[in-house]
Amino acid sequence: MICKACLSDGEHRRHVFIEMMFGTRERFEYQECIDCGTIQRLSDVADESRLYPVGYYSFAKPLRNSRVAAIRDAHALGTKSILGAVASFVRYDPIVAVIGYFGIDPSFRVLDVGCGSGKLLHRMSAAGFKNLTGVDPYISESTSGAVTIHKSDLQSMSGEFDFIMFNHSLEHVSDPDQSLGNAKRLLAPGGRILVRIPTSSSHAWVEYGPNWVQLDAPRHIVIPSRKGMSALAERCDLSVRHSIDDSTAFQFWGSEMYRKSKPLTSSGPHNVFSRHELRSFAKRAERLNTQQQGDQVAFLLTAA
Ligand SMILES: [Zn+2]
Repeated sequence: MICKACLSDGEHRRHVFIEMMFGTRERFEYQECIDCGTIQRLSDVADESRLYPVGYYSFAKPLRNSRVAAIRDAHALGTKSILGAVASFVRYDPIVAVIGYFGIDPSFRVLDVGCGSGKLLHRMSAAGFKNLTGVDPYISESTSGAVTIHKSDLQSMSGEFDFIMFNHSLEHVSDPDQSLGNAKRLLAPGGRILVRIPTSSSHAWVEYGPNWVQLDAPRHIVIPSRKGMSALAERCDLSVRHSIDDSTAFQFWGSEMYRKSKPLTSSGPHNVFSRHELRSFAKRAERLNTQQQGDQVAFLLTAA
């Protein structure tokens, strides 16, 4: 099949990956692009929504944010304070840190694509953001309030946004170029798109192969290489301006669980690994991030 990232129709490598988040152990065919290294699912799945059962992690109800967490989030997202700086140090949170790193302002119109229950948007609301919208086709219903969430696909959305985020959602769609094209359509002049996504250009894919936890067959449909992500952006008249690796210890403890044939939801990492092991996984992740070998990346895209 033609590579959905770089459009190569070469002799791609074939793989079979098994479902291990819930441990159904169903088998799915994938290919790895011979030219750009992007991994994509070949097997058809009749009803994608059945892959996201009620207990799926992104549907968890947003927790009430503590006052300190809200100050930390506000600090990371642009409203600086001394207490926020201390809280960021003591309780570092990689997601708001990455979003803040790229520069964002509470006046921005923000769209979170594949927002699930809207956990991140509610945190941004507590941190002072006023114009927050989410869209997700797999949630049970649309909701409104401080945050507006549409049960819908991106294609049906209208409006204009300054900051559009895909937080580990673009790998779940079968036509990422169509999704990016729609994001581009909704982007205000000078606006930016953040894509946080796993990448096959990583140490974890090389080390763990079919046991790499972020393959997440069959939910992850297209896992781009770094080169594949640039090709995808270019085809949508976008370009990758910056990227930072934001991988975590998860790449190790999750993949080690798969190696032991343990489904991800069968037990928490603290029941399987010692504190020492988990600390060393986190250190290795930090090192890989600085070498641009982490298994997930935050790409910042702007109009080309
Ligand atoms: Zn390719």
